[in-house]
Amino acid sequence: MPNNSNDEKPALSGLGLPELLECLKASDLAEYKIKQIHSWLYAKYAGSFAKMTDLSISEREFLETNFKISALKQLDCQISKDGTKKYLFSLDQSDKYVESVFMKFQNRKELSVCVSSQVGCAVGCKFCATSFVNFKRNLTSQEIVDQVMSIQRDNNVRIGNIVYMGQGEPLLNTKEVIKSIKVFNYSVGIGGRHITVSTSGIIPGILELAKANLPITLALSLHAGDDELRNSLMPGVKIYTIKDTFEALDHYYEITKRRITIEYVLLAGVNDTIDQAKKLAKLISKLNCHVNLIPYNPINEISDTITFKRPSHEAQEAFKAVVETSGRKVTSRLERGKDISAACGQLHNKYLVSN
Ligand code: SF4
Repeated sequence: MPNNSNDEKPALSGLGLPELLECLKASDLAEYKIKQIHSWLYAKYAGSFAKMTDLSISEREFLETNFKISALKQLDCQISKDGTKKYLFSLDQSDKYVESVFMKFQNRKELSVCVSSQVGCAVGCKFCATSFVNFKRNLTSQEIVDQVMSIQRDNNVRIGNIVYMGQGEPLLNTKEVIKSIKVFNYSVGIGGRHITVSTSGIIPGILELAKANLPITLALSLHAGDDELRNSLMPGVKIYTIKDTFEALDHYYEITKRRITIEYVLLAGVNDTIDQAKKLAKLISKLNCHVNLIPYNPINEISDTITFKRPSHEAQEAFKAVVETSGRKVTSRLERGKDISAACGQLHNKYLVSN
């Protein structure tokens, strides 16, 4: 076994049991010991090998010398007045960072974490802080899962709900996202019904996810009622028309029987018009879905070129009333962490500016 410096040591947190068995197969540890390590990591949130007291002292020393617990290093944590915490983690001793948000919703008993799936993002949505972070690389399944484990260890609480809505487009990293969902299911103990993957509409990824047939929720970030407006707001997905995207969603529903969520960020004077609301109502009327309206969280602090504004409460209500004529359920998302840069990419950008 190599005796590496701490940064070079392989991390164990975030690996599923088969990967953990593979990673430790060259050691002399018996399989039942490796299962004990798995339990320390996932059931007891152990933050050090010293805490794994049902292993012998020499086994703990062996692990300490050759491995580390976490694949991520916590660099920052901002705490909102409403209890939301936004974490910034660095990866592989590099200048690559990811963000994760820990949220408590009053109407939900499970605690939630919003995870990142890539460093930066290539989709380039005009209203998103992450579009200022150039795409650097996909996260591994281990790095996705370890965001949640790091937050569980930091707060000593159980997370019951995961949303793939942080930095990056999950369905441009579909293989690792699917793998991470399975680790959430089998190692972390979070069922598919408590996991949501949010996509900007990457059709091959939607089809691949349908093929995996996981009982998760798929959310489409739509943000416009027609292709012209959508292409101007989300240039990275203009190769996919709304019509083709909705056909892929229909297919996803046919395979999984899981109702789709349509996410729609309301931008004052841009996509919150009654005309756009009517187009949206027509689009969703034939899809088995519910709609989540999200009033825009301004990110003007990141760039003067982003001038989008949050619609008034009256404009939000008028838009919602028209969309409800579709017969689909329409909700307004409860926002968390407005005072701590909780939109994806904002903390990352602040860190880059101040360091
Ligand atoms: S909204 Fe999502 S898909 Fe669009 S740039 Fe931001 S992270 Fe990427």
